[in-house]
Amino acid sequence: MEKLPECAKCSVKPAERACRREGGAGPDSCPTRHMEMVVEKALARYGEPEIREFARQASIQEAQCYAGRDKKPFVRRPVKTRLEEICEFSHKMGYKKLGLAYCAGLQSEASRLQKVLEADGFQTASVICKVGCTPKEEIGIADAEKVRIGEPESMCSPIGQAEVLNEAGTEFNVLLGLCVGHDSLFFKYAKAPTTVFAAKDRVLGHNPLAALYTLNSYYERLSRSKG
Ligand code: SF4
Repeated sequence: MEKLPECAKCSVKPAERACRREGGAGPDSCPTRHMEMVVEKALARYGEPEIREFARQASIQEAQCYAGRDKKPFVRRPVKTRLEEICEFSHKMGYKKLGLAYCAGLQSEASRLQKVLEADGFQTASVICKVGCTPKEEIGIADAEKVRIGEPESMCSPIGQAEVLNEAGTEFNVLLGLCVGHDSLFFKYAKAPTTVFAAKDRVLGHNPLAALYTLNSYYERLSRSKG
């Protein structure tokens, strides 16, 4: 294909899109129309029994997050929080032992989350980002690059978090508020599949979408070209 895929800029009406109905339309950058081989290759992965079952249960869970699905016309009526969604999906998959990797800044939330998971019957292993108490100097951080300049500071160790949960034998992990990049390393090193309960946003109460919801007003500056 000549162009990068740009679904986020697709101007075709949703019901008429190539990804929604056979023979539908899509722009020159449409991956459904122009990246068939890639899509086919991805589809073959769902043939692996473990992946197939994971995808099947995730899809069933997705549907069960709405009420009135038999009503026509269908009007979306969401009925489950993400917390309920995580618990229900974990039960569907038959998981008994969950992992919780969280940021020290969300200690109180992590404690509540562990309580909820345990109340729902899951054995839960939790591990904080500062696990190991390794000084930031270990990864070449200078004093001026610390959060609290001039003080000793433990590094966040997402790889340490992943390895602790790997060792604990968790079957499914839940991330809570890891920093950008730290979360990436956790995904890379965790053996069990991982979902995100909440993404950290220090300014917006861990609701990063608020910056987009106010992009035409208070956060307009973010949509301006920096060139
Ligand atoms: S897959 Fe094609 S039709 Fe669907 S949103 Fe992307 S560009 Fe549009």
